Amino acid sequence: MASSPPVFRFAPSPNGRLHLGHAYSALVNERLAARLRGKLLLRIEDIDLTRCRPEFEQAIHDDLAWLGISFAPQVRRQSLHFPDYRQALGQLEEMGLIYHCFCSRQEVKDAVRRCEAEAGTPWPRDPDGAPLYPGTCRALGEAELRRRREAGEPHVLRLAMDRALARVAGETLSYRLFDEAGEERDIRVDPARWGDVVLARKDVPTSYHLSVVVDDALQNVSHVVRGKDLEAATDIHVLLQRLLGLAVPRYHFHRLLSDETGQKLAKSRLSRSLADLRADGATPEAIRRQLGFT
Ligand code: GLU
Repeated sequence: MASSPPVFRFAPSPNGRLHLGHAYSALVNERLAARLRGKLLLRIEDIDLTRCRPEFEQAIHDDLAWLGISFAPQVRRQSLHFPDYRQALGQLEEMGLIYHCFCSRQEVKDAVRRCEAEAGTPWPRDPDGAPLYPGTCRALGEAELRRRREAGEPHVLRLAMDRALARVAGETLSYRLFDEAGEERDIRVDPARWGDVVLARKDVPTSYHLSVVVDDALQNVSHVVRGKDLEAATDIHVLLQRLLGLAVPRYHFHRLLSDETGQKLAKSRLSRSLADLRADGATPEAIRRQLGFT
């Protein structure tokens, strides 16, 4: 039986215009998908209903078409699939791995400050530099929890990281990292460094981490190609995949353009949108050449 072709995806959020960094990410996906004779999907990551806008979504299609990148016909828009994320949350809830957290940002900050004062040492930070959630709402009693839920207090849903890790104790959690030359190696993950991550936000019934994992699985994505800024977050994704019984794709993390440019001119050029560059007379060929794709 022939095995199915590899599946790649480019997954921008329509909360602004695409810039050269997005073009680079889409082009690396295109190149690797072509090399492995794979399929390339487009996914619109628009769970943030306040920041995402239809005109940005239309612009994503226009910019990518202008660059000459073609995608498989079905485009998945996350905002149309909230029930899928709800179902995954329900699975985790049934396993006892989710809890309600009513803390505001300020309350989290204050709690961290108190912990630091008590311990006399800095509170641990996650790989993005944010303090780990200090666990205030884990201590809520049944009655208080019920009262606050019934009162409809805004809350997020968090993963109880220690309980989640206890469920997979004794197993090695890892993923296959691949590079542009096709070399692969195993990477062990360490999700504990993220603490009790948010899986459903106050205003949105899911989060980036949850929806990306659910969608990659539902779309049979076999090769995730994205920027190095999302490398550490992959630890959370692999844990969620394991807990939800989902396949773990292979991962490749490409360099970030803005990290590479020392020069001011280049920097300001990098942050300009593809639409601006196009209006200034740039051609798709010139953009491809500039980014190292010929
Ligand atoms: N939507 C994310 C972004 O625009 C990318 C998510 C991913 O590739 O996993 O940064």
